[in-house]
Amino acid sequence: MRSDLDLELVKLTKRYGDTVAVDGIDHLFHAGTYACLLGPSGCGKSSTLRMIAGHEGVSAGSVVLGGRDVSQLPPAKRGTAMMFQSYALFPHLSVADNVAFSLRMKGVDAAARKARALEMLDLVDMTAHADRLPAQLSGGQQQRVALARALVTEPQVLLLDEPLSALDPFLRVRMRGELRRLQRELGITFVHVTHGQDEALALADEIVVMNNAVIEQAGPTRAVFDAPATAFVARFLGSHNVIALPDGQFAIRSDALRVTEPGAARLQGRVTGVEYQGTHVALTAATDGDQEVTALLTDQDFFGAPKEPGQAIGLGWDDRAAHLLRA
Ligand code: ADP
Ligand code: MG
Repeated sequence: MRSDLDLELVKLTKRYGDTVAVDGIDHLFHAGTYACLLGPSGCGKSSTLRMIAGHEGVSAGSVVLGGRDVSQLPPAKRGTAMMFQSYALFPHLSVADNVAFSLRMKGVDAAARKARALEMLDLVDMTAHADRLPAQLSGGQQQRVALARALVTEPQVLLLDEPLSALDPFLRVRMRGELRRLQRELGITFVHVTHGQDEALALADEIVVMNNAVIEQAGPTRAVFDAPATAFVARFLGSHNVIALPDGQFAIRSDALRVTEPGAARLQGRVTGVEYQGTHVALTAATDGDQEVTALLTDQDFFGAPKEPGQAIGLGWDDRAAHLLRA
């Protein structure tokens, strides 16, 4: 269903000299969606985001927001706001003044600016630090301020470029929860760039997997994870095996593989490694045709019939667990 606040990319293209960073991508982001743009370094994620924000001109194609082509508008006129990879707070301005900065540029009076900035700081739980300078904040706190600063303009779409990459792992997981909560509370569209599949899976309603300047696959997060369309997507998401069989190449989730006695199984293999992971055991095996596969077994399944490296095994799966990959 289309809404009047959907964000649409139409044949969007970015060239830098001879480099094609984004190659004619089409995508519709439904209003109110938490979307993750996921892909390896250099695949064109940041260029895409910067074209949506207006910090980078489009080489061809367009960005349409709410039915309006915004491709030629300056960033502040688009209804989007961007949170950068480095938070880029003004070091000489207090937290409150950083958040209020864009309102000052718009000519909003001091009292109204202050009130609005405090409202935004409340949203990210930073009211107590309103008078501090950025240098007096931790990385996580600076990031909340950067979020408040982006949200103060009341964007319809918030663009986030690797917003969690500078945080330590503990804080990253916590902030991830906060971002998700904030997006639900505000009900606006978030487009979040990341190269981390865990982050995308944890956050996104929808993931858009990019590779080599194009979209490889897009869709609801679980649908993409359950049925990757290409070997690239299956490998990039992880937790999948890409297995060549006589009738084509298939993706099969590691947790969908069953380990049996050798014999009547679909694939024969030899155990190459057993890794205890607490709740699960990851068993790797080399199969006929020298393919490496991983089976993720519950610890009960594994220890019910433990295997040793070097042991011959069979591997099985249900038909519906095998997804034929596009060449
Ligand atoms: P990602 O964010 O996925 O890592 P980018 O959009 O930053 O990818 O970059 C995509 C491609 O465009 C890369 O090959 C990169 O080197 C190139 N690129 C990005 N920005 C510029 C620029 N300002 N000038 C020239 N090439 C660039
Ligand atoms: Mg980038």
